[in-house]
Amino acid sequence: MNSIVERLKEVRNSIASACLQSNRRPESVQLLAVSKTKPADKIRELYLAGQRHFGENYLQEALEKQQELADLSDLVWHFIGPIQSNKTRDIAANFSWVQSIDRLKIARRLNDQRATDSVPLNILIQINIDDEKSKAGIHPEQLPAFAADLQEFPQLTLRGLMTLPAADASSAQQQRSLQAMQRLYSELASQYPTVDTLSMGMSNDLEAAINAGSTMVRIGTALFGARDKKGVTNDNASA
Ligand SMILES: *Cc1c(COP(=O)(O)O)cnc(C)c1O
Repeated sequence: MNSIVERLKEVRNSIASACLQSNRRPESVQLLAVSKTKPADKIRELYLAGQRHFGENYLQEALEKQQELADLSDLVWHFIGPIQSNKTRDIAANFSWVQSIDRLKIARRLNDQRATDSVPLNILIQINIDDEKSKAGIHPEQLPAFAADLQEFPQLTLRGLMTLPAADASSAQQQRSLQAMQRLYSELASQYPTVDTLSMGMSNDLEAAINAGSTMVRIGTALFGARDKKGVTNDNASA
C-alpha cells in the first residue's frame, strides 16, 4: 500500500498530465483533498506535504478535526455536503468556502451569520446536472435567477459552480454533462467577475473533468483510500 504522500504525488501527476493533454497549465487546476470520514492525522500528513485545501461533508466531524488541527493556521476548509438550516452558524464561522449552495434560505443565513469583520465566505452553486431525484443542486435553468439573487449578500462571494455528475452514467452521457457544466460556467464567469472556479471531477473522472475545463478537482478515495459506507461518493443524505 502506498503512503498517503505518495498518493498525493500520483494525484498531482494525474492532474498535471490531464492539463498537458488539454493544453492547460497545471496551476490552473486546484486540488481539494476530500477528507470526510478520515482522521486528522492523515490531513496533517498531507498538509506537511504541501496540501492546503480540504473538503468536509459532515459538520460535527469537521469541527472536531479543525480543533485538532488548529495549529495549522493556513489550512483552507471547504464545506461540500448538504446543509441543514441549524448548521449554518457553525459553517459560516469555521469554513472559508461552501460548495453546496442550492437554496436561497441557506445562503441568506450564511450571509447573516458570517462575521462582518471576516472576509466574505466563498460560495459555489451546486448544479444537479443529470437531473437526479436523489441529488442536491439546482437545475441549470434556475441558475441565472439564483446567481442574481446571491448578489444581494455582502458576506458571500460567488466564486462559481460545483457539480457531482451521475455515478452510473455512460461515458457519452458523462461527456455531455461535463460540457453542459462548462457552458454554464463560462456564461456565469462572463457575467460575474468574481467567478473563477468550476469544481468538477472526483477520483474516477478527474481527467475528463479537466478536459472539460474544471478548475478544482475534489479527490477523496485516490488520496485517502476507500471509505466506509457513511462516506460513499454519492451519499447526499443529511449529515
Ligand atoms: C466524497 C465526495 C468527493 C470525493 O469523492 P471520491 O470519489 O472519493 O474522490 C467529492 N465531492 C463530493 C461532493 C463528495 O461528497
